[in-house]
Amino acid sequence: MNDYLALREKMIEEQLVERGITDVKVLFAMRKVPRHLFVPKSIEYKAYTDSALPIGEGQTISQPYIVALMTQSLLLQGEEKVLEIGTGSGYQTAILAEIASEVYSIERIGALTTRARKILDELGYTNISTRTFDGTYGWKDKAPFDAIIITAAAPSVPENLLKQLKDGGRLVAPIGTESSQDLVRIIKRGDELIEEKICSCLFVKLIGKYGWSNG
Ligand code: SAH
Repeated sequence: MNDYLALREKMIEEQLVERGITDVKVLFAMRKVPRHLFVPKSIEYKAYTDSALPIGEGQTISQPYIVALMTQSLLLQGEEKVLEIGTGSGYQTAILAEIASEVYSIERIGALTTRARKILDELGYTNISTRTFDGTYGWKDKAPFDAIIITAAAPSVPENLLKQLKDGGRLVAPIGTESSQDLVRIIKRGDELIEEKICSCLFVKLIGKYGWSNG
């Protein structure tokens, strides 16, 4: 039996704090959420390693550091309504739900939505809404959002999503080609979009009307 609490604590120190994750809300959430429950049983023992892991359907759960960095980059204070595109395992969704007041998460693969929903319900989250849909359209009925996170690589930022961002809102996404992307943050200020590069990264593809056209 692995001591997951100890492994999680080690992950926080060695992978997050040492690399500059300073937001206490992010560190608190990463300390609390049991990441091992979001990966397939057969690789549960690898849950706290410094890497992305397969979750089935050709998709992956992001590396802990990337989850922390993306969350920190959203500059959440606690009262926000957040949209996530790419629920996948539901791990990032749980981290967001620990910090923000409402989380809306869209996944295109039904089997993944179902699995993530089950774990999130078992853990008792009541501030998460999930939906199986093409997330490149966003979630119009619930817009506008204070923050939007895209956890799959997009060729460019889908216009629809920028439209669903509040004034002053932040969008964080990997933008680039299939083989390499920049993690970028866009801050909306009136008609102006302020874009900054956070780091280089590699994500699975965002597939949909305003993403890539195939798997
Ligand atoms: N945050 C997730 C990352 C999963 S990988 C985690 O840490 O577990 C990215 C996910 O985006 C995949 O599950 C993939 O199916 C999903 N995805 C790709 N294109 C999408 C789209 N257009 N709409 C919604 N989800 C999409």
